[in-house]
Amino acid sequence: MERERETQVSNTNNILMLPGDGIGPEVMGEVKRVIDWMNDKMDTGFAVEEDLVGGACYDAHGCAVTDETVAKAQAADAVLLGAVGGPRWDAVARQHRPEAGLLRLRKDLDLFANLRPALVFDALIDASTLKPEIVRGLDIMIVRELTAGVYFGQPRGIETRDGVRYGFDNQIYSEPEIQRVARVAFDLAKKRGNKVTSVEKSNVMESGIFWREVVTKLHADEFADVELGHMYADNCSMQLVRWPAQFDVIVTDNLFGDILSDCAAMLTGSLGMLPSASLGARDPETGKIPAMYEPVHGSAPDIAGQNKANPLATVLSYSMMLRYSFDMTDAADKLDQAVQNVLAHGLRTADIMSDGMTLVTTSGMGDAVIKELEAMG
Ligand code: NAD
Repeated sequence: MERERETQVSNTNNILMLPGDGIGPEVMGEVKRVIDWMNDKMDTGFAVEEDLVGGACYDAHGCAVTDETVAKAQAADAVLLGAVGGPRWDAVARQHRPEAGLLRLRKDLDLFANLRPALVFDALIDASTLKPEIVRGLDIMIVRELTAGVYFGQPRGIETRDGVRYGFDNQIYSEPEIQRVARVAFDLAKKRGNKVTSVEKSNVMESGIFWREVVTKLHADEFADVELGHMYADNCSMQLVRWPAQFDVIVTDNLFGDILSDCAAMLTGSLGMLPSASLGARDPETGKIPAMYEPVHGSAPDIAGQNKANPLATVLSYSMMLRYSFDMTDAADKLDQAVQNVLAHGLRTADIMSDGMTLVTTSGMGDAVIKELEAMG
């Protein structure tokens, strides 16, 4: 591990920044300031290159991401993406729509593990629709398998058989596909609460029986020191709103992960606060793990260009990058604490505004984070 880290440090840390569309460039502008501040004051040594993705790329090149940009993403140590999309590109052919750029990056970097933290900041506890006593201190990490399962399984289609129309998809997982995403979950748990809940529906699905079997064996072989529990997906959705504090890391397939991560996200009550990471497999030679970090929210065309967007989801995505791509735990902790402090001081962008708080703009929130970092020394 130490040797891998040294390999990364000896090369400059290269970040490819893809601001994208709508509020993407605005929120990314604030993160750029934080990166510059950290380079200056904490010697983080990041070299940042910017490029186009989504509608912005379509306007310039006629496609949602170019081959050159994909190659740059593959060569970078990490990618930070803003958001893509907007009504301006609604009439564009499907394969060139802004979202296609995002999907291609995920596919070409083989980002199979999607990390979605659901964290409730004390200062925002009232933003949740759940009672404060249920969500206080909540800190869950959902690891969703992202590149296989029912969204990709073959055969799939809509067909007529004997005069009756059918629609079908195929939920299919190989043993290595389950092992690699479960490994990510166990490794993460070791750095957190040391507990993994594996979620499937082995009561009614063969693929669920298989998933449970593979995770159980991997646990026994390699991660016996981590607590492992199993849960059916329907029960998990109930437990997430009944008693979310019981969870540390949840690992699940593409479909259940899609649904459960949105459910967990809403426990926190604020789309503008939610970061995410997507990770690939470690290259055995370079030790590098392909990774893309992005806020959960979209391009918010309704507020784009108005200096109203909350940049904190993207700031926190950068913090995940510090933690997971560069092992810079101190810098990540410091940035997370700066965000906590800014919120504790009552500063709010419009999306998280409440009575008695101080309304700030996108750049005002960026100013406040930098000021807080300065104050923390
Ligand atoms: P959205 O997340 O862009 O916006 C939903 C609502 O939340 C809007 O009212 C918006 O103003 C608000 N919001 C979102 N992020 C915010 C922030 N940081 N600060 C303050 N308010 C914020 O979702 P949508 O409206 O369904 O989609 C808009 C466009 O974004 C579409 O083109 C969609 O395809 C795209 N999209 C992209 C991504 C991505 O790039 N990963 C994800 C979701 C949607």
